[in-house]
Amino acid sequence: MTLPTSASAALFERARSVTPGGVNSPVRAFNAVGGTPRFIRSAQGAWLTDADGNRYVDLICSWGPMLLGHAHPEVLAEVNAAVLRGTSYGTPTEPEVELAEEIVRRTTAEKVRFVSSGTEATMSAIRLARGFTGRDVVVKFAGNYHGHVDALLASAGSGLATFAVPGTPGVPASATDLTLVLPYNDRAAVTAAFAEHGPRIAALIVEAVPGNMGIVPPEPGFHAFLAETCRAAGALFVLDEVMTGFRATAQGGWGLTGAVEGWTPDLVTFGKVMGGGFPAAAFGGRADVMSHLSPEGNVYQAGTLSGNPIATTAGLATLRRATDEVYAHLDAAATTISDAASAALTAAGVPHRVQSAGTMFSIFFRDGEVKNFADASAQDEKAYAAFFHAMLEQGVYLPPSAYEVWFVSAAHDDEAVAHVLAALPKAAQAAAA
Ligand code: PLP
Repeated sequence: MTLPTSASAALFERARSVTPGGVNSPVRAFNAVGGTPRFIRSAQGAWLTDADGNRYVDLICSWGPMLLGHAHPEVLAEVNAAVLRGTSYGTPTEPEVELAEEIVRRTTAEKVRFVSSGTEATMSAIRLARGFTGRDVVVKFAGNYHGHVDALLASAGSGLATFAVPGTPGVPASATDLTLVLPYNDRAAVTAAFAEHGPRIAALIVEAVPGNMGIVPPEPGFHAFLAETCRAAGALFVLDEVMTGFRATAQGGWGLTGAVEGWTPDLVTFGKVMGGGFPAAAFGGRADVMSHLSPEGNVYQAGTLSGNPIATTAGLATLRRATDEVYAHLDAAATTISDAASAALTAAGVPHRVQSAGTMFSIFFRDGEVKNFADASAQDEKAYAAFFHAMLEQGVYLPPSAYEVWFVSAAHDDEAVAHVLAALPKAAQAAAA
């Protein structure tokens, strides 16, 4: 039995005639797994309903933001009330202050500035770091994604301490020739890059726990080493918590590393969960660094919809309900699903590796530890595609790429989790075929 897809297929065809590839963000097109992307009509709790009326347990959660599940009634009530007061004023508002206070209370940031996407947050943090230090070079790691910022869409140059090359057509060499791209979890590469370029390095940026090549946790002490290396060189340590913030743990990815190892980032970026499903993101950090931002300082940064009252209301409504009980629930659901997936794949003889960071996990279709992007790339993408489609056919919506995190929410109750578990054995057999 195959699920009906004619309504999604018809929408996809219409979409392709007016939008490149038919989607507004590439991974949604299913290119990595093939087939027809499902056009979602509505969502409630842990469930998505597509244009053909098929229902799926959602393990994407909008790529992270939907921590409480879809259409949470209390969040919607606050959002609806805010909408009736008008949707954007271009003036300061109270919800912005409240959300900033909530973020400062929950994180290492002493001050924050709101933007509309994670990309803007990392782009602005880099600009601020350059303005603050008066330096120009930026260090990042292969397989770490920080949005589509020109300087960060870079691939490693020919040697470890050589400058990067553009990662996509459209990015000029001049945008990446101040970027160094290093292998993740590689202390020697970091030491070599700082030895050669240290006095020019404005910032090093790293995902709090890399999740954009699948979950690749830092080796114990690696981020402490990065923080110390930056401090010694007078460079700023920028922790990207766009995916992990308010998600991996109550204290984000930092809760698994800095909180344990005793370091704090100079700057930190947030997005996803803090917008409650609306376009809101932020960058923040040390008050003395943030004070260099316009209008207090002279590093320019701005945005028409920054701190939008609907987005900040949704973010605040979400964060205020992100209690310890919610994180305990996410943890339990993630563990149950990842354990069952691993058992099913083992039973079917499919090589795989589960890696996790707090409540976030991903499954690599290869065995052995995955420590960096080269390891992550050596997986069986075809096996994942077969697994993905067998899950989809049974009403479970996984990320349509082998390199993504599987997200759960507070609304993933026993019924939703049982639905996922029931689908796993057949999908594992499909992956083995
Ligand atoms: N940084 C990280 C770690 C991300 O995972 C993402 C998006 O997935 C971004 C930055 C970019 O955020 P956005 O897609 O909101 O621009």
